[in-house]
Amino acid sequence: MNICHPDSSKSCAACCGLYNVIDGRREVLNSLLIKRTFAFRKISRTVDAISDFSEVSRTGLGIRQWDPEIHVCEYTGFVDDSCKTVGCMLHPQAPGNNGIDFRGLCYYGSMACKAFLCPAASEIDETYVTIVNRLITDWHLYGLVATDINFLNALFALIEMMVEGPIAAEAILGAEPSGMLMKVLAWKTSWPFAEKSAKRRSSYYLIRSDQPKDEAGLVNNIVDCLCFTFDFCVGSNEAHAMVRRRIHALVKTYKHALLVDK
Ligand code: SF4
Ligand code: SF4
Repeated sequence: MNICHPDSSKSCAACCGLYNVIDGRREVLNSLLIKRTFAFRKISRTVDAISDFSEVSRTGLGIRQWDPEIHVCEYTGFVDDSCKTVGCMLHPQAPGNNGIDFRGLCYYGSMACKAFLCPAASEIDETYVTIVNRLITDWHLYGLVATDINFLNALFALIEMMVEGPIAAEAILGAEPSGMLMKVLAWKTSWPFAEKSAKRRSSYYLIRSDQPKDEAGLVNNIVDCLCFTFDFCVGSNEAHAMVRRRIHALVKTYKHALLVDK
């Protein structure tokens, strides 16, 4: 499975700095990406024009970088006609490039862009990856969830601890549990305890150690991940209680689905 671009409904560009901006809300990023994509499609594919586009993208189209340590690439855009999949506009298969690889013109250079694969590609159980891929159909949410190793591992470990066994993908993907799980995953873009924050940080570069073995520790990890995403302290008792309540309700529905499946 290609974690970066699993299917035609969504993709990820977190490691291109997509979320490293002052305002990473979906509507803001979407509007920026649309402007950048269509501006880039108009330029000729020459070294000068592509290099000049970097400045246009950075200043004229308004990249407001947040963490100065993480580069925000000027060439990230939509790579399909219906603006569903984000990716590299310098890639040989991106629209207008006629099979020519222009990635050598970017900040990281061609080799780094071709070779990089974030830790999520190997650190998340295949079943969890399958569930996430089947449920999420939006690039903004996908890039935040699929790269957050700690969030997914804590969430699914908590569910497995409560059901005392491994998750059965087909049962949890049934109509009722999947709707509840989707609401939990969607916390990564809209978390009621951080409504004032416009940040949506990706943790694609973070690897965390083993998950705790108790409910309180796992709930704590989930809340910590949300605090990181929104760069906002949401670690109140109320937040922990809500996570616990929602996961318990999800597990109850999932257990029912398991019984029906038997
Ligand atoms: S952050 Fe990971 S999943 Fe996302 S595009 Fe980069 S390597 Fe792929
Ligand atoms: S040039 Fe490199 S960093 Fe920029 S969008 Fe393409 S792959 Fe990402």
